[in-house]
Amino acid sequence: MTTCTHCHAPDPTGSTLCVHCTTTLTRQLQQLPRMYAGLGLLLAPSMATGQGRGGKGGPAPLPIDGDTFDLRREFDTVYAWLSAVHDARRMRTPRLAGDTLTRLHTAVAGLLAHMPWIVATWPGAGDLAGEIGELHRNASSVVDPDPRPRGRRIGHCPAAHTDGSLCGAVLTLQPGETVVSCPWCSASYPPALWAGLKQLIDADTAA
Ligand SMILES: [Zn+2]
Ligand SMILES: [Zn+2]
Repeated sequence: MTTCTHCHAPDPTGSTLCVHCTTTLTRQLQQLPRMYAGLGLLLAPSMATGQGRGGKGGPAPLPIDGDTFDLRREFDTVYAWLSAVHDARRMRTPRLAGDTLTRLHTAVAGLLAHMPWIVATWPGAGDLAGEIGELHRNASSVVDPDPRPRGRRIGHCPAAHTDGSLCGAVLTLQPGETVVSCPWCSASYPPALWAGLKQLIDADTAA
């Protein structure tokens, strides 16, 4: 039995990365372009504001800018890893064209395409997972890696258990859903019941 080159857990499949680390690495790679774009949005407003204070013409000092700028440069590591994979597979150095976001998309797609080979045999897999993980962590401290709309919080579930105590779990209306359902007691509240639900919640809150 071999061990995962990243988390060092025993791996019965004999791969260089275990299933868990492979899944994590794949998800992190997929999220990188959106995070990179998000960092660009953070950077843009201050670059547009060139007036500075007191009409001196210098940009206002915003310490996050330098950090965000450096953070974006860290994404170069993705190209470096794709080149390393090409090297190891005796392929030509990847040619990336377009703006930085397009090149990042291409590099991510390239690494994902090589993933079966990477996890099957490549000894560099552990370091790749380590560096991409670190890049993802650093970027996550500034931008949300998964900015999907979150549900709307409704209140506490007013359903009563058989012993008369209230459920009290937080009810959330998920985006695109039309029925509020309790994740805990699985009571569901279709729109027809919402008026009554609000009364029950208000009464419980007041109690
Ligand atoms: Zn692992
Ligand atoms: Zn409930």
